[in-house]
Amino acid sequence: MSERWNPQSVQPIWVNNEWVTGEGELPVVDPSTGEVFARVATVGRSVVQSAIGTAFRAWDAWRRLTGRERGRCLLRIADAVDRRADEFARTITRENGKPLAQARAEVAMTVDHLQWFAEEARRAYGRVVPQQVAGKRHLVLRQPVGVVGAIAPWNFPLVLAVRKAAPALAAGCPVVLKPASATPLSAVLLCEAIEAADLPPGVFHLVVGTAAEIGAEFTQNPLCRKITFTGSTAVGRELMRAAGEQIKKLSLELGGHAPAIVFEDADLEIALQQSLIAKFRNTGQSCIAANRLYVQRSIFGTFVDAFVERTKALKVGGGFEPDVEIGPLIDAAAVEHALAQVEDAVAQGAQIACGGRRLDRPGFFFEPTVLTDVPRHAQCMTEESFAPLVPIVPFDTEEEVIAAANDTEYGLAAYLFTQRLDRAWRVAEALEAGTVAVNDGVPAVSCCPFGGFKQSGMGRELGTEGLDAFLETKHVSLGNIG
Ligand code: NAP
Repeated sequence: MSERWNPQSVQPIWVNNEWVTGEGELPVVDPSTGEVFARVATVGRSVVQSAIGTAFRAWDAWRRLTGRERGRCLLRIADAVDRRADEFARTITRENGKPLAQARAEVAMTVDHLQWFAEEARRAYGRVVPQQVAGKRHLVLRQPVGVVGAIAPWNFPLVLAVRKAAPALAAGCPVVLKPASATPLSAVLLCEAIEAADLPPGVFHLVVGTAAEIGAEFTQNPLCRKITFTGSTAVGRELMRAAGEQIKKLSLELGGHAPAIVFEDADLEIALQQSLIAKFRNTGQSCIAANRLYVQRSIFGTFVDAFVERTKALKVGGGFEPDVEIGPLIDAAAVEHALAQVEDAVAQGAQIACGGRRLDRPGFFFEPTVLTDVPRHAQCMTEESFAPLVPIVPFDTEEEVIAAANDTEYGLAAYLFTQRLDRAWRVAEALEAGTVAVNDGVPAVSCCPFGGFKQSGMGRELGTEGLDAFLETKHVSLGNIG
C-alpha cells in the first residue's frame, strides 16, 4: 500500500471524465511523521467552472434514470469500495493519522451509507393531495435539485464525502466534490471506485485546489444549484453569506461542542466506556466529540479517578502501530490549539489530571488530557477542542446541568448517561442538539438524520432526510378534470 503514494510523482484527479494532472500540485503530509508522502494535482477556477458545466450537461440523462438504476450504480460503488477496503483504510490512516482500526470502521460505514442511499434512491416519494376545489387534482413531486458542489473536511475524509455524494447521486444530482487539502487521497480512491462502477460520464468530478476559489465558483456559478458543506462554523458562515447572492440551496454541517452528562444513577462502567469513546475516538477530532464532561457531584471523585486512569492507559502512536487508540493530530496548528486551551484553563485555575503536553517525537502528537477545576469561561468550556482534551466539571441538579449543556451557540450532539427512563426522556427532550445519545458513545448511523441545532448547521444528512436535502418540491395542479 505504501508504494501506491509517492512524493516524487503527482497523482492526477478525476475531472471532466478524465484523470488530469492539472495546473499545480498539493503535497500531502503524514501527520504521524510530518513528512510529505504524496502529491496531488490541483486545478484552478476555470477547471472547476468547466466541471460544473460538464456535470450540468450530464444531469438530464442522470435524473431520467429510474431510482432503481441509480441505486444499482451506488451498489456498484459500494462493492468497489468494499473490495478495496484495506487500501482505503490504509490511505485514510496515512493522510489523516487515525488508528487503522478506526479507519477500517470509517470504510465500513462508507459502504453502509452507499447501500442505504442505493435503497433510498427509489423512495423519492411525492404525494397525491385530495382536491379542495371541484374539477382539480393535485400532485406533489420530488425532483433532483441539480448540480451539487460538495465540500468535505479532513477528519473523516471518506465517509463525510460519501455522506454528501451518495444521497446527491441517489436523488439524481451530479456532484463536484472538493476534499479537504489535508486529505485528498481518500477522495482519489473514491473516484477510482466510481470509475469502476461505470457511472454515466460527467456525473462525478473531483476538484482539488484553493478553497476560496473553488468555494467562489460553487457560490457564483448559477449552474451549481446546491452547496453541501461539512467543516467549521466560520467557513459555513462565509459560504452562507456568499450563497445568499443567488439564494443558493445550502446544507451546512458545522462545528460542535457536545456536552456529556453523567448522572449519579448511571451504570458507571457503561458511562466510562462510552464517554471515553465519545471523547477520544478519532483522537478527539470529531464534530460530535464529547467536548465537556459534566458529572453529578455524588459520583464525581469516583468517576474522575476511573476516567483519568483509563485515559492514561490509552495507547498513543502512529495509526499503523498495533493496538493504537490515539493517533496524531492533523497538523502542528492543531497541537498548538490544544496547548493553548490547556494554558488558558490552567491560567484560570484548572488542574491537569493527566496529559497536557505535546509528545516528544516527530509528527503532531498530543497527550490525552483531562482537566479538572475548569472555570465556566475557560476556552475549552466554550470552544471546540478538536483534540484529545477534556474538562470534567461537577454539577448538582438536572436543571442546572441542562442549562449548562445548552449554554453554547453550538447544538450538534449531546450525550447523557442514566438508567432512569424518565430522566433519559426528559433530558433528551430538553437538550438543544441534533443528536442526543443515551448511554451510547457512537450514535451516528446511516438510517437516522444527522445535523445541528443553532450554529452547528442547517439541514440534515443520512436517514430519509439525507435524500430530501437534494430534492426540490413541485406542486402540479391539474385543472378541468371533472
Ligand atoms: P474547515 O477549515 O472549515 O474546512 C472544511 C472544508 O472547507 C475543507 O475542504 C476546506 O478546504 C474548505 N474550505 C475552507 N475555506 C473555504 C472557503 N472559503 N470556501 C469554501 N471552502 C472552504 O474545517 P476543517 O478544519 O477541515 O474541519 C473541522 C471542522 O469541521 C470542525 O469545526 C468540525 O466540527 C467540523 N465538522 C462538522 C461535521 C458535522 O457533520 N457537523 C463533521 C465533521 C467536521 P481546505 O482544506 O482546502 O482549506
